[in-house]
Parts: sequence; C-alpha cells; structure tokens
Amino acid sequence: MKTVEDFNFKNKRALIRVDFNVPLNDNNEVTDTSRIDAAKPTIIKILEDGGSCVLMSHLGRPKGKQEEFSLKHIVNTIEDIMGVETKFANVSVGKEAQKLADHLQPGEILLLENLRFQDEETSGDKDFAKQLSKLGDIYVNDAFGTAHRAHASTTVVAQFFPDNKCFGYLLAKEIESIQKVMEDGEKPVLAVLGGAKVSSKITVIENILDKVDHLIIGGGMTFTFIKAQGGKIGDSICEDDKMDLALDILEQAEAKGVKVHLPVDVIAADAFANDANTQVCDVRQIPDGWQGLDAGPDSIRIFDNVVNQCKTILWNGPLGVFEMENFAKGTVELGDSIAKATKNGAFSLVGGGDSVAAVKQFGFEDKVSYVSTGGGAMLESLEGKTLPGIAAILK
Ligand code: AMP
Repeated sequence: MKTVEDFNFKNKRALIRVDFNVPLNDNNEVTDTSRIDAAKPTIIKILEDGGSCVLMSHLGRPKGKQEEFSLKHIVNTIEDIMGVETKFANVSVGKEAQKLADHLQPGEILLLENLRFQDEETSGDKDFAKQLSKLGDIYVNDAFGTAHRAHASTTVVAQFFPDNKCFGYLLAKEIESIQKVMEDGEKPVLAVLGGAKVSSKITVIENILDKVDHLIIGGGMTFTFIKAQGGKIGDSICEDDKMDLALDILEQAEAKGVKVHLPVDVIAADAFANDANTQVCDVRQIPDGWQGLDAGPDSIRIFDNVVNQCKTILWNGPLGVFEMENFAKGTVELGDSIAKATKNGAFSLVGGGDSVAAVKQFGFEDKVSYVSTGGGAMLESLEGKTLPGIAAILK
C-alpha cells in the first residue's frame, strides 16, 4: 500500500482529493473544522518536502453552481489551519485552474472550486478526470468519506497516474483500522451493532459473522429479534418482514460459533418523547402502549462484561435514542466500557453514522483507538465491499 511516505514531493505538485464537505452556518462560516484538521498531516508533509498542494473536494449536494456550496467560503479556514496562504480557482478545471496550478510554487496551496458544480464529477466522466489530472504530478487520495463513490476525482482520475498515486495519511489510517478489525484483529473480536433498523445493517451483520467472536445487537434493531423469538415488544420499533431474517442470522451465528448478546431489559417509555413516563422492563415483556428506547441496567452490565473480555472492538450504531437525554444512558455507558477496554489495551474502532455523532457528543473521541471519518464508506467496508476509490490506488 503506497502512502505519501513513499514519495518525496520536492518540486512536485500533489493533486489531493480531500473531504472538505464541512458544515457552514448562515454566514458561510465553518462550524466544525474536523475534516480539514484531519487532512492536515498529509498536506503539511507535502509542503515540508518542498512540494505544493492542489486540493479538490466536494461540498454538499449542489444542483449546478450554487453560491452557498462554493468552497471559497472555506479558504480562510484552510489558511488558519495550515498556516499557508491559499489560492482559489473559481472553476475546478479549465484555463484559470490550469494557470494557477502551473504557477504554484513549492510550499503553496491551491483550492479548486466545488467539484460537484460539474455534473461530470459524479458521473465519473473520463475527460473531466483527465483535465483534473493535468493539475498535478502525483495523485493523493485522502478522502475516505467518498472512497465508496466511483467519481471522477475519487477513482477515475487515478488511471492517469499509473506510477504516481498513493493514499494520504488519513485514508491509510482508515484502511489499516478496518483491516485491524476485519482481518487481523486480536481475539476475542467483538462487534456492537446498534441503530434503528435491521434492514440497513443486514449485509454488515452477515459479513461480520465470519470475523467476530461476540456480537452485541442493540438499539431499535433489538425488537425485530425479540419479537421473532416470541417476545412481547409492546409498541417498540420492529420490522415484521425481517423477522425470518433475524432468526436466520441467529442460526448462522450459532453455526459459526459467534456468541450473540441481545439486551435482556430496556427502558420503556409510554411515548417517543424525552419527557415520557418510563419504566425498566424485561425486553420480552414490554406492555402494550410502551416502547423500548434504551438498554436497561442489566443489559448495560452484561455488555460491559462482554466488552471487557474483548481485545478488538468495532462499534456501529447507538444502543438507544441517544438524541434524547433520558434515553442516552445505554449508549454513554457502552462508550465508557469501550473507553475502559481501550485503556486496558484493546483496539477499538467506531464508525458509521450515528455512533460517531454519539462518541463526539459524549466526549469519547480521544478514548477509543480510532473514529472513522466515513459513514457510507465505513458501512460498505464492513459489508466486505472493495471501495472503488481504494481499488483505484492499489491497481
Ligand atoms: P442508524 O442510523 O441505523 O445507526 O440508527 C441510528 C438511530 O437509531 C438513532 O437516531 C437512534 O435514535 C435510533 N434508535 C436507537 N435505538 C432506538 C430504539 N430503541 N427505538 C427507536 N429508535 C432507536
């Protein structure tokens, strides 16, 4: 796997696909710089080598050229973070961009306008990719968040750099972390899968059964399993058409020697609201009119015990409706358990959507081994798919 470490960028122009799809407020100010911070090590390595950086990214999902999605809004933030003046090309390809790139001096940065202002980006247009390729000598992909897309800047462009392409530090770290869990994780390996629905996680569950020793299933998914086993789930969320699948998963797990841990109790509420009345219920005896919205105290204790036996831990999806304070405890306690296990030497990877939000919200970010930057890309990796953006570099 070639990374920026394998190249000396002296007098070279790096064309870097970054993920600067950052949130902006109404005044077009960046409200969370984590994605720009995350690309800093790669950019600084190239600049310190004596090279220059042409940065390309998308921002949001614009329909054509829409002012509010312009990357010009983030130029100042990039300058603050990198400590380097940053030039800006109003169109990502064409004469102006080419001229600015050609005049770029070692130590300088050029940011291209939002790639998605051109439809050719998402359609993976080869000519567009070729024009982009002329802006740099070495192609670097450091955008995990879009690595599952076969877009011009994430995948197609790589073919124009047969020998001069590599991963940035961030993308390399993502790949290594996933590998550490899915291929060479120290045993016992645990996956915690939570979130709302079985249907959105099914391929992940099926793929992961071959990799793990323990599987904790929590969150809204729980109730499809419990109902399928004959439990009473009251008004809890359930996908009736996935009950056979749930039983099938449990059978497969047993055949593969994977220990499945479902919640034994829940915090049940009489409405889907933070101020609803609550009671602790046996997960199989939830009264009508009540719905399970968080893991109960016995479940939390059991999960803590499992987490602490394991040496490799993957966490995807919250254990309850953590957005509401009164139903966040299961998720927070699980985060605590994983933080404790990590401190004791386990490798922990948190990835995919809402668990990342939960980890950040509750301050566990620095207490786990790695927090993935890609939602969809992470899920597809866990499903066992080869991501096109990664394959294009390895080719
Ligand atoms: P996902 O995107 O599939 O990871 O699902 C995350 C969502 O699942 C969060 O918004 C949670 O509020 C929701 N969730 C977790 N547990 C439950 C539950 N018991 N009932 C309903 N929704 C839940």
